[in-house]
Amino acid sequence: MKLNKEWHLAHPMPKNPTEEQRIEWHIEHAKHCQCRKIPPKVKAEMKKRNIKIK
Ligand SMILES: [Zn+2]
Repeated sequence: MKLNKEWHLAHPMPKNPTEEQRIEWHIEHAKHCQCRKIPPKVKAEMKKRNIKIK
């Protein structure tokens, strides 16, 4: 597992994020860091919105 510390410092998860913010954060996070996987709940929301992640 690789943690991109710099990215995390520059991109903290907003407090009380909206579903959109949470999804966006995880999309960006997946691009830059592999410290954790996208939670199933977020993945389900992405599916609902037709957002694809590779
Ligand atoms: Zn991370």
